[in-house]
Amino acid sequence: MNCMWCESNQIIEATKDCYWILPDGLASVQILQVPALSCKNCGLYLTDEINHEIDFALYTRNLPARKNGILYKELINAPYKTTF
Ligand SMILES: [Zn+2]
Repeated sequence: MNCMWCESNQIIEATKDCYWILPDGLASVQILQVPALSCKNCGLYLTDEINHEIDFALYTRNLPARKNGILYKELINAPYKTTF
């Protein structure tokens, strides 16, 4: 696996805590322990794939209402919103 930006192979898998704007644009949520890459040259960042996955999950999943911060794993495993 190489860095998405500089193609260095000196990267390690890491996790990152991020703030994300919710689809309604009115609020943000902190997402914890998101899988990330850490590159010696470019620093710590999320891949496009993970970015898309989080965007999609925030659209389609019911978030736990109780908290400001949610674990990435909790988000990805949250129940789907009912649509009716
Ligand atoms: Zn890099």
